Amino acid sequence: MNDRPEDPAERRCDHCGAELPLSRLFYRVAIELVSGFDGQLPEAPSEQDLHAALRRAADDERTAAELEHEVYQRLELLLCLRCRTELAEQLLLFGSAGESRRPAGALTQ
Ligand SMILES: [Zn+2]
Repeated sequence: MNDRPEDPAERRCDHCGAELPLSRLFYRVAIELVSGFDGQLPEAPSEQDLHAALRRAADDERTAAELEHEVYQRLELLLCLRCRTELAEQLLLFGSAGESRRPAGALTQ
């Protein structure tokens, strides 16, 4: 995604690969995934809980980048109109837990 050519003549949709030459409508999508913190800490862990947490940390095979992405990740995409519409619909459905499904095309701002 960050290796995208600077030349607009070589621009392509990051999802479907459609060419996005000069004067073609395209969309920039930036999504930030940021861990939340509500200011509340769990109750003080027991000594047994701390030992268990240390054992889990020692066995943790995630890379520094993976751990960083758990806290903050920014995704940037260039999309064509069709993929932008599809993504927006998917995001609305993704965030509609407990709601009735929105009809297709009922995009909100
Ligand atoms: Zn596309």
